[in-house]
Amino acid sequence: NRAVVLKNRPEGEIQEGDLVMEERLVRAPGDGEVVAKVLWLSLDPYMRPRMNDAKGYMDPIGIDEVIVGESVAQIVESRSDKLKVGDLVTCYSGWQEYVTFPADAPMVYRVRPKEGVPLQAYLGVAGMPGRTGYCGLMYVGKPQPGETVVVSAASGPVGTVVGQTAKIEGCRVVGVAGGPEKCRFVVEELGFDACVDYKAGNLKADLKAACPDGIDIYFENVGGAVTRAVAPLLNPGARVPICGYVSAYNAKDMTEVETPFHVLKALDPVPEHRFFLVTEWQDRHQEITDILASRVAGGELKYRETVAEGLENAVEAFKGMLKGKNFGKQLVRVSE
Ligand code: NDP
Repeated sequence: NRAVVLKNRPEGEIQEGDLVMEERLVRAPGDGEVVAKVLWLSLDPYMRPRMNDAKGYMDPIGIDEVIVGESVAQIVESRSDKLKVGDLVTCYSGWQEYVTFPADAPMVYRVRPKEGVPLQAYLGVAGMPGRTGYCGLMYVGKPQPGETVVVSAASGPVGTVVGQTAKIEGCRVVGVAGGPEKCRFVVEELGFDACVDYKAGNLKADLKAACPDGIDIYFENVGGAVTRAVAPLLNPGARVPICGYVSAYNAKDMTEVETPFHVLKALDPVPEHRFFLVTEWQDRHQEITDILASRVAGGELKYRETVAEGLENAVEAFKGMLKGKNFGKQLVRVSE
């Protein structure tokens, strides 16, 4: 069983020797436990702050511990009547090939395969990031027809779901993404009304031109220069679901960086609404997964993915994702 473990806490960008692959024994299952084989591993931005020694909304990963992460896995051994050999689940396995856990552990969900929905979509647009985009937009943003919605990291799994959901709700949707290829995809494939390339060097003016009626909802994924460009365009009564701010995740000291909270606090009234999927809408997990999976199957929810082959390529893929090298959901195919 190969596993990727935290050896040193990265300072800034992850360096050689910070995350290391090791052989780890697979624990034999006790009563009520199962062993699962990881098929697909999800790489998500939140993993980077958890490598720091600072307590966020979740505990830091310990030194020598396996890096946290959600996967689609298949049960290969079972001592429980809740899950049988062959069943597919999403679970927080961490970055490793096999994992042992109690069948009734929290955050373990059966995957009921659906035609037209690839398994790995349950880690992306029909999974945690998708539910994040959906809940953050619908329950925090509360979109009304005709409103202008701006979403950053628009081509990623969260942004993809935010924008296409807002279109279904009758909004005008403007994405912000890095580079012409991602912007073209967001408009032509996903059906956003416009997409601003924040790397093109003209962010403030381009965003203003794309939002002639101002901004009613800004779905925050990135922070930094994008937030500063958005702030002056927010209309009275605007909502800003603060989902994340990935531009700061590689900072040596996240308490030193300018966060969206600093930028938005200057506005009156303050429009920010911080939320966390895992603490707020866990009870709606199945209902929202079903909505998103049905939209994927029906072709209403389109998306891209980038696949790294094998656990040995996970670290490079993760480093790349924090810099936007991924195009759509970043996954690792761990085994067939
Ligand atoms: P993505 O797949 O979109 O990956 C991150 C993207 O961020 C990159 O592809 C890149 O896209 C963009 N990016 C990186 N650096 C910068 C920068 N300096 N400035 C602007 N953009 C940058 O990630 P997800 O869709 O999985 O996640 C999006 C956000 O949602 C993250 O902030 C994440 O932490 C948050 N999140 C929050 C949850 C919650 O419960 N609150 C749950 C899940 C996710 P590009 O090339 O376009 O720049």
